[in-house]
Amino acid sequence: MNIEELIKEKPHLKNPLELYEKIKRLNEYCKHEKDRIKLDNKTALIDIVLKGFSNIFDIPYESISFLKDEILKSGKDPLREPSSLWTLPIQIEELFQEELKRMLFILSKPFFVFLRKEGMQASFMDTGKCPVCETDSSLAMITENNEKIIICPLCEHGGSFYRICCPYCFNRDSSKMEIFLDDEEIRADYCLECNTYIKSFRENHFLKYKDPFLIDLISLPLDIITQKRGYIRRSPNIIGLKIIE
Ligand SMILES: [Zn+2]
Ligand SMILES: [Zn+2]
Repeated sequence: MNIEELIKEKPHLKNPLELYEKIKRLNEYCKHEKDRIKLDNKTALIDIVLKGFSNIFDIPYESISFLKDEILKSGKDPLREPSSLWTLPIQIEELFQEELKRMLFILSKPFFVFLRKEGMQASFMDTGKCPVCETDSSLAMITENNEKIIICPLCEHGGSFYRICCPYCFNRDSSKMEIFLDDEEIRADYCLECNTYIKSFRENHFLKYKDPFLIDLISLPLDIITQKRGYIRRSPNIIGLKIIE
């Protein structure tokens, strides 16, 4: 199913789905360019990401090129710590704060993806956090063999985890957990110990949508219901949303 068809089917998700499509294109472009130039040089990679962003989001390069100097000046290395981009100190009018925050999140995404090495198998079992970028967990796939694979929305690494266990506080007592299913049978597991929830989907959802991050988005209404009940999502989704209203 392509994005246009999906938007027709779920018109209430038009904006997030359109943004998703652009972020996905940006990540693919950046991955492809990184492999093409075979350089792990910070300045070159910042350039690739900014150029890709400019093309895909249709924003003149000249109006965002100052970010390159800001990143270099900040002394932070987005190749090692992509989340440092989220708090880049930039003077900007109050009015544009949200927009800037969103843009910095989108720009950080390719750097998270660069952290992941092809074929990595590391699990989430040690800490419940992503072994590649240390992001908390919010999304999992249940395989046909009933195994749980947690998927990191930032670097996109997937790794195994305990079937019944909260990845945030390691509560394993099923009497202190609750499950809620949406109408597509995507489920939210609530931990009654620490109020964390993670959403999970089955392999048949994956076969239908082909992308876990798209499943995360089409189930945004499940996040809304769950968060209204007081449960907490510990990591943003692919478009940078963590608190969903
Ligand atoms: Zn990660
Ligand atoms: Zn917990």
